[in-house]
Amino acid sequence: MNESIVSPLLDMPSLYVVATPLGNLRDFSPRARDTLAAVDVIAAEDTRHSQRLLNAFDIHARRLLALHRHNEQQAAGQIIECLAQGQHVALITDAGTPAISDPGARLVARVREAGYTVSPVPGACAAVAALSVAGIAEGGFRFIGFLPAKTQSRRSALMTLINERDAMVFYEAPHRVEACVADMTEIFGEVREIFIARELSKLHEETAAMPLARAGAWFAADANRARGEFVLIVRGADAPDGVDANALRVLGLLLDELPLKTAVCLAAEITGAPRKGLYAHALEQRR
Ligand code: SAM
Repeated sequence: MNESIVSPLLDMPSLYVVATPLGNLRDFSPRARDTLAAVDVIAAEDTRHSQRLLNAFDIHARRLLALHRHNEQQAAGQIIECLAQGQHVALITDAGTPAISDPGARLVARVREAGYTVSPVPGACAAVAALSVAGIAEGGFRFIGFLPAKTQSRRSALMTLINERDAMVFYEAPHRVEACVADMTEIFGEVREIFIARELSKLHEETAAMPLARAGAWFAADANRARGEFVLIVRGADAPDGVDANALRVLGLLLDELPLKTAVCLAAEITGAPRKGLYAHALEQRR
């Protein structure tokens, strides 16, 4: 059994990566509370924001240290010094799991490189919470996080995902969510399914699944729907059968002259397309 299940701290100086609630404070685990109360240093993305959580749980931090995306390398150095002095350090961000579209990954890599243990104290994560109620990622998922903010770069990023087979999980800011969904509709097509998860675990939590064609109208139906925090999950592309336009053209020419099976075999030889897919197209064409 992992020691930390019974006692909040490990025997050796360690970094604890602690998840905090997305909204509902009751999602904060007793173990997360005990860990933050026991460590020597808490590194927080925004110390003022995190102080509210600490106050709510009556946690008196011995030392609070700021670690955000602009000072992560320098703060990592300070944290490694603390560990070298035998101290325990916890990392938290404003909400959810650190290092998931949040600072933390570089710190974790540096601490591990320096030879110290990094231990997770798991809890809320917006992507996982949304996936758990989406019902469209049975085949797996790909976490994308935030797309680029500028329209052209966002569209280019979406273009690279057009053939992605797994469901794709995006984070998006409220002031960009409608434009982002409009771009997704244009690039992924109107029939692809989207799952919208808004304000998870908060007062105005809302979730909805629909074809991308209907997403614009869903937002337009209520101005409040573009407010808050969003996870967007888009179903992956249908499995391509590997038969491209050139293979279909060759198959068509051969079918005009030859029996079906021979045409399929030859088309597969010539184009490299899979026989099974070609066979299905050949039956379709003969019909
Ligand atoms: N590390 C966090 C996690 O574990 O999910 C994510 C941090 S990232 C800076 C913030 C983004 O997460 C938001 O812009 C939104 O896309 C998503 N998010 C955070 N809280 C959410 C909530 N309650 N409901 C829906 N999405 C949320």
